[in-house]
Amino acid sequence: MRYRLPLGLMGVWAACAIGAWAGLAQSIVLKTRHVYGREYVAMGDVMKVFGLKGQVSRNRTVMLTSSQVRVRLTVDSREAEVQGVKYWLSAPLALHSQQVWLPAIDVVKTLDPLLRRTGLAAAWPLRTIVLDPGHGGPDQGAHAQNGLLEKTLTLDLAKRLRGLLAQKGYNVLLTRNDDREVSLDSRSAFARARKADLFVSMHFNSSAPSTEPRGAETFCLTPSGAQSTSTKSAALSATDFLTFAGNRFDNDNVVLAHCIQQSLVARTGTVERGVKRARFEVLKDQTCPGVLVESGFLSNVSDARLISQSSHRDRLAAAVMAGIETYRKAANR
Ligand SMILES: [Zn+2]
Repeated sequence: MRYRLPLGLMGVWAACAIGAWAGLAQSIVLKTRHVYGREYVAMGDVMKVFGLKGQVSRNRTVMLTSSQVRVRLTVDSREAEVQGVKYWLSAPLALHSQQVWLPAIDVVKTLDPLLRRTGLAAAWPLRTIVLDPGHGGPDQGAHAQNGLLEKTLTLDLAKRLRGLLAQKGYNVLLTRNDDREVSLDSRSAFARARKADLFVSMHFNSSAPSTEPRGAETFCLTPSGAQSTSTKSAALSATDFLTFAGNRFDNDNVVLAHCIQQSLVARTGTVERGVKRARFEVLKDQTCPGVLVESGFLSNVSDARLISQSSHRDRLAAAVMAGIETYRKAANR
C-alpha cells in the first residue's frame, strides 16, 4: 500500500525533500518500510513534510515542534499529544535501526489533517447539522448516583446546543425530540435522509463500578487500516481493514473531533481525555463528517455534580458550538 498526502501548501517542497516525487502526481508519496510487520515512516521524513524540529529526550519522549505546532510522542507507546489533545496511535512509535519511526497510517490520517488541514471533503456551505441525543425510551444510558439519567441529559444538552446553533443561522435537526427509543441504524439514516452536513452524537460517560475516571473525550470513526483506540491486540484484524461510508470524511472527522475536544477543555475546564477512534454504529454510515462527544462521567461524583447544573450544561453546549465554529473556519476554503 502506498501512503500519500495531498500536496497542500508545502507539497512541492516536501515531495522534493523526501525524494519521492512521482512525475505529475498530485500527492506526496511517503517512503515507508516495514517495522514489526507494519508500514512506518522515518521521523526525519515526517519532520521534513511538516516543517518540524525534533528532539528525543532520555525518557524516550519525542517532541516535534515548530512555531505553531507541538506534537509529543513516546517510543514504544501508542500515546501521543497533538496541539494539547491526547491521541492514540494505531501502533506504538518504534525505535529501529537507530531511527524513530511513526506508523504511516497515523501520519496520513492524524498528523496530516491536524497539522495541514488538507484532504477535507465536507460539502460546502455547512448548513444542516444533525444532533443525536444518545439513548432514549427504555434505553436509559448511564446512571449517576444522584439519580440523573444519561438519556435525559443528552436530550437537554442537544436542545441547548440546537438553540445556540440556530442563532448562528444553522438548520439544526435532532434525531429525537422527546424520550423515545431510536435505533442506532435510524440515527444515521435520519442524518442521511435530511442531507446533513455535520452529525454530532451526544453522550455522557460511565466507567461504573469504577468512579475515578472523569472528563471529556470525543470519538471519530477509525480509518481503514488502523486500530480503534480501545483495541489491546498488537495485530490488525480483518475488521480494521473495512471501509465505511463515513471513512470518506476521515480528515474532516478528526479535525472536527479535535476542535470540539479542545473547546470543551478550554471552555469548561474539564479533564482532557483525548480524541479516540471507534467504529461506532452511528458514525460508520454517515455521508457527512461526524463525531460522538462524551461530555463527562456520570459515574464520577464531581463530574455528575457539575453535569446536574443547568449552567454547566449551558457551558458544555457553548463549548461544542465553538468547536463546530472553529472546524467550519478551519475547513472553509
Ligand atoms: Zn451513551
